[in-house]
Amino acid sequence: MVDRPLVLMAVHAHPDDEATGTGGVLAKYAAEGVETVLVTCTDGGCGDGPGGVKPDDPAHDAAAVVAMREGELRASCEILGVDHLELLGYADSGMMGWAANDAPNAFWNTPVAEAAERLAELMRTYRPDVVVTYDEYGFYGHPDHIQAHRITMAAVELTGIPKKVYWTTVPRSGFEQFQKLMAEFGTGDESEQPEPDTEIPELGLPDEQITTWIDTSAYGGAKFDALAAHASQGENIFFLRMGKERFTEFMGVETFVRVRDCTDAALPEDDLFAGLR
Ligand SMILES: [Zn+2]
Repeated sequence: MVDRPLVLMAVHAHPDDEATGTGGVLAKYAAEGVETVLVTCTDGGCGDGPGGVKPDDPAHDAAAVVAMREGELRASCEILGVDHLELLGYADSGMMGWAANDAPNAFWNTPVAEAAERLAELMRTYRPDVVVTYDEYGFYGHPDHIQAHRITMAAVELTGIPKKVYWTTVPRSGFEQFQKLMAEFGTGDESEQPEPDTEIPELGLPDEQITTWIDTSAYGGAKFDALAAHASQGENIFFLRMGKERFTEFMGVETFVRVRDCTDAALPEDDLFAGLR
């Protein structure tokens, strides 16, 4: 219907979020000839440092973390076939309540309108047909994920360019399997092991509320390798311990909620570009 390549833009908070949440769709659509744009809003400076130094350790050197993580992000993009990487460069705000929330350049501390205008400018440049970001809780409440959601929705309103907008989610039906995998492979930090009776947090959505299921299992290897490019981050080790096959089995379908649509493509759908090609 359009005589230029379709364009997918994913807006993420930190280096490595592109791999966990959307590595499959980025790799799949890139392989299909879709132009892919990744916008990473923060520098990831509150992540683990070289040698696994945690952010609350006095030896944690944010500048070193930022440099390391940018290198990892570029490697991940190479693996996934991302055509354009755009870094907004805000400082990682850390988890809710950390002092880093209030740092002058912290993403969480940046007015939504200001960051949204920068993102809108990128939308005017790349003219994405499809935009993917998080839901209003940032999926699990991380301030930078919430802020990425807010600036994305504001930039969509400002430009009116994307024909479809999606929020990443996970089906609640997968949580039982996730708990089993946690028990089998651990979290990488034994203190984070859930008690057997731990209540499953209300993350994700009931299956019937998920509009869009994309089978990306053919790209499970690329997704795994992209995540492996971010192996400095302790939270990723759990997934890497599964090995490629189990990882693809569990993470091979990426799920979304369609929140804006100009195509009337029937739901549920199995293609982010349904109605556009
Ligand atoms: Zn993140």
